[in-house]
Amino acid sequence: MPSSRFEPSTIKNKVKREEIARKQKKQKGQDKLQRRLALAKAEASDPVAKKKRKEQNVPRTLDNTRVFDPSFLTAQPVASSSSVPDGEPEASSSSAPAEHGTAHPPEEQPQDESAADLANDPFASYFSGDVDPSVPPKVLITTSPRVTRVTYDFCDELVNVLPGAEFIRRKKGKGFEMGRIAGWAAGRGYSHMAVVNEDTKKPNAITLIYLPNGPTAYFKLTSIELSKKIHGHARSTDHFPELVLNGFVTRLGHTVGRLFQTLFPPMPEFQGRQVVTLHNQRDFLFFRRHRYAFRSTEKVGLQEIGPRFTLKLRSLKKGLPAVTNNAEPKKPLEFDDFGETPDSEQTAAGDMETDEVPDGHEDAQSQGQSQKHGPPATDEFLWMWKSTIALSTTYQAGATQTWVPNAPGLPSALPVPSNYPALDKTPPTDSDLVKQWIQEVMNSDVDIPDIPVTNPGACSNNTAAVANASTNCWWTCGGCTRETDVAACPTKNSWGVSYDDGPSPYTPNLLQYFAQQDLRATFFAIGSRIMERPAILQDEFMTGNQVAVHTWSHPYMTTKTTEQVIAELGWTKKLIKDTLGVTPLYWRPPYGDIDDRVRAISTAMNLIPIVWTRISTTQTFDTNDWSIPAGSTDVYQVLDNWEAIMGNSTKIDTGFIVLEHDLFEQTVDVATGYILPQALAHTPKYNMTPIIECLDMPLSNAYVETNDNSSHPLPLASVQATHTGSSPAGASSTDGSSSGGSSGALSRTNTGPVLLSALTGSILAVVSLLLR
Ligand SMILES: [Zn+2]
Repeated sequence: MPSSRFEPSTIKNKVKREEIARKQKKQKGQDKLQRRLALAKAEASDPVAKKKRKEQNVPRTLDNTRVFDPSFLTAQPVASSSSVPDGEPEASSSSAPAEHGTAHPPEEQPQDESAADLANDPFASYFSGDVDPSVPPKVLITTSPRVTRVTYDFCDELVNVLPGAEFIRRKKGKGFEMGRIAGWAAGRGYSHMAVVNEDTKKPNAITLIYLPNGPTAYFKLTSIELSKKIHGHARSTDHFPELVLNGFVTRLGHTVGRLFQTLFPPMPEFQGRQVVTLHNQRDFLFFRRHRYAFRSTEKVGLQEIGPRFTLKLRSLKKGLPAVTNNAEPKKPLEFDDFGETPDSEQTAAGDMETDEVPDGHEDAQSQGQSQKHGPPATDEFLWMWKSTIALSTTYQAGATQTWVPNAPGLPSALPVPSNYPALDKTPPTDSDLVKQWIQEVMNSDVDIPDIPVTNPGACSNNTAAVANASTNCWWTCGGCTRETDVAACPTKNSWGVSYDDGPSPYTPNLLQYFAQQDLRATFFAIGSRIMERPAILQDEFMTGNQVAVHTWSHPYMTTKTTEQVIAELGWTKKLIKDTLGVTPLYWRPPYGDIDDRVRAISTAMNLIPIVWTRISTTQTFDTNDWSIPAGSTDVYQVLDNWEAIMGNSTKIDTGFIVLEHDLFEQTVDVATGYILPQALAHTPKYNMTPIIECLDMPLSNAYVETNDNSSHPLPLASVQATHTGSSPAGASSTDGSSSGGSSGALSRTNTGPVLLSALTGSILAVVSLLLR
């Protein structure tokens, strides 16, 4: 690709400029066409190449990048399909994401749960057929205190949309808190209460309460367009509308969908031809109302009635909004008795916050008085949106830190994506930089053993490689390590904490927890993720964490050619250096997939591999947390794995390294909510540090520029020192020693004590090597 190209925008004459630009555009189109024709011609004779290209060229779409949600329901529960003719069938069939069918084979359990949900949910009476279908649900619509015209206008439209709705102006002053009004409304036979909240003179949220006993849902409200602002909008009539709920496929989605269903009369009046649609896309709920008309037997026309708005669920609570109790007793509102609903007693006893508390945010803190029917102290939220947090600090160019005092300041600018390879694929090997790195590896004293690349599919798809797994020390099938690999910390009860696959949007949540608990760790970062969030990597580095390489696109490295391995490692090293000003000395092969060839390449590139502790095929220190978002395990299984790891940690003579991830919301949640708190409370106490520190080295030894070369020579320098000119046979400097043999034994036997001593032996060897 040409590095610089003539820019027509620099031409001052407009006619000329446009002519040149046109020509360039045309030429570009022609070139593209020629490339495509050539490709088509080449692939016509080589269908395998075409298939391969098509497999690799999967466009990223919102749907295929969506993380699978284990609570997707796989089929339509019986109970809800019958009630509203137009509603739910949409939810189960057309709109379900693709993963729905493939990644999640029919399972009994979610269906059972779903059936139980439906039978016990608060909306069951609406769907039971006991309600009179000709009577619309009675909905009370009001606002937060002190609102302006726009919010009243919006409420008018809501009244128009909901057949049974009635607007009552919110009274100001104490005694009129949301919870109290809800109790009052329930006593008067309202089935719902909707409170529109205003902020900066705009409606910005809706609290929707199902009466008399809840739940209470809180939605953010955006993108409002009133009917009159919609060009050519149709007039509404009083007919009961049909309802289309689209994309409510999870358990939570079902609850929310059913909540909306109960706002409308169960039987639509089809002659009105009015349809209300709530379409869920990536958790945003789009509200639209249309009238349809059959123009012929094939075509249907749609005319929008309005209004339009977008909702996003922020929380779903059990019960009614709490009325918090300030010290002084409050004169309760009078309302009709409606039995022993939780709110009646609570409301009578409670006092209220002042009006300043925005609706929907009233915390349900019980005020210390014993309120038998008050909201429970825990588990009050059925569901709550957890936002990602922003970084607490961003750093200036040149900023320095105390953790690695001899590090140069941060580079003058964050890296620009156009200077780096495309994300999430192995970088091309024909670029000048990669060619230079290849040359450097060739010029080093490290011999790259001639081990064939493995097939994708690991052990089950690699008969020959499995047979040679211990000879080639292939970790993936048998867990073989060389003494140059780091697989544990030398000191008992020391845990070299690490997180892989970030930086992600959830990493700041983890860093915030670290700051609170005075923790630090090693982050194995993926180049493609660093490119997306370099500021988070800087925050990791500046707050005393170790940053290490986890490749550019996260492949099984033994499936890659030597040139590709160099490109994967080289670009990630370079991006980290360009982001932090230092070059990492450590890396972790994705999936632990390393053999003597990949090991030797990494040695030649001054990278030391770190895997995680493994004492037998079944006892690895892998929490398996990465499988939660994939849907193949759940939090409870991960916590079981973690319990087992803690148990094993007390049995071995060394410290340990555990596999965890900061890529997904769930994995960060499980780390900050369970694993780290339990580790901090563990007896005997764990010494939790970045991996470099559990190896008894200062953080500065984690980077080329700040490394103490006299006590911790770079991997390449060590090789060059041991080779001293002669050309050795064998893979690397690691072959001949006796501890290499014991590492081999590690992969072949499963008996505990032997393994432990072998492990200890190899770790001691690592340590002595490192300290030499
Ligand atoms: Zn990984």
